[in-house]
Amino acid sequence: MNFNINKIRQDFPILRQKVYNKSLIYFDNGATSQKPQQVIDVLNDYYLKHNSNIHRGVHFLSEKTTQAYETARKTIKNFINADNDYEIIFTAGTTASINLVAYSFAEKFLFEDDEIIISEMEHHSNIVPWQIACERKKAKLKIIPFNNNGELILDEYKKLITQKTKLIAVNHISNSLGTINPIKEIIKIAHSNNIPVLIDGAQGIQHQKVDVKDLDCDFYCFSGHKVYGPTGIGVLYGKQKWLDALPPYQGGGDMIKSVSFEKTVYNDLPFKFEAGTTNYIGAIGLGQAIKYIDNIGIDEIIKHDKKLIDYAHKKLLEIPEITIYGQAEKKSSIISFLINGIHHFDTGMLLDKMDIAVRTGTHCTMPLMKHYGIEGTVRASFGIYNTCDEIDILYNAINKIIKMFKK
Ligand code: PMP
Repeated sequence: MNFNINKIRQDFPILRQKVYNKSLIYFDNGATSQKPQQVIDVLNDYYLKHNSNIHRGVHFLSEKTTQAYETARKTIKNFINADNDYEIIFTAGTTASINLVAYSFAEKFLFEDDEIIISEMEHHSNIVPWQIACERKKAKLKIIPFNNNGELILDEYKKLITQKTKLIAVNHISNSLGTINPIKEIIKIAHSNNIPVLIDGAQGIQHQKVDVKDLDCDFYCFSGHKVYGPTGIGVLYGKQKWLDALPPYQGGGDMIKSVSFEKTVYNDLPFKFEAGTTNYIGAIGLGQAIKYIDNIGIDEIIKHDKKLIDYAHKKLLEIPEITIYGQAEKKSSIISFLINGIHHFDTGMLLDKMDIAVRTGTHCTMPLMKHYGIEGTVRASFGIYNTCDEIDILYNAINKIIKMFKK
């Protein structure tokens, strides 16, 4: 399909809504994306007509829902080019996926004085679970630094690797800077030292082609709600050899083959990691969201993203009072900035009154903010339905705010 922005915008009912009596400009896609009618319809349909708990019933509704859940798993497997359906684990989101690996991996493979490497530009969700694991196992956390453009310094990364390094966890795209990290190279370097890599793909899956076989990543995590799907659902992709090797994270129904007080036998993949009732209707909705973007075509989405970010950069750089944080050569649809002398919170509030939704603050990346010696930024993050015309409106609004503060 060709990228038809008018058609895409029509698919998202929320964009028709007026905020303060004007059309909404939604530039907070890094926090969460809006949902197309196609996803809303599937969720509605399942709650209205088909709802029944999966994997446990012999009746019609349960079988239908189970089938749809497993079809969603297959859709995701195909989308990221995994080898097997059972390498796709449904979780509550990126945070849940990372916590699962951090817990289970540390339980089996992390010991005193071992090391985990993450980067200075990680989201708290890819910092704190590793800190907890390191604390539990008396291991060390080491940090890949980034340069002022917001690019990871690979030479420093190589120097951090030792015989004690057990795992490397980095994000695909920085949620605060928009940097597209060289994850393939990072993985290659790690693997040449026999170290597995986890990729936090919370900002990657909706903006980049993710081919887990080509990347050769050991784990890839993402959230449904950032990829035009429902909240409360996400994915952990893991290579079979790792998922087989890791102990279960949570115990409960579905993750067992048999239970007795003497001995419980755990279920096969993927169920070993899906204890209890999962958000199965969310998973079906996520499958639909993935179909939706696959139908548009990820290459078309990448082109559109590039057009938006290049345009936003060009326009915002025209304003001398602005500092942009993160000017990596490879960058996706996130632009973080400050208007000199104006608090990010004030900018965000004023933009809101001009019908532009942006995010302000640390974006859950406090160490990154510390690098720049700032408390936070204003972040505009784009999705498939955003346009250059909307960026023009942002540009004019910023100029208005600057004038207001000059008075
Ligand atoms: N990692 C990154 C890079 C993110 O942007 C986010 C969400 N802002 C997360 C992890 C956490 O995602 P979630 O809250 O959906 O679990």
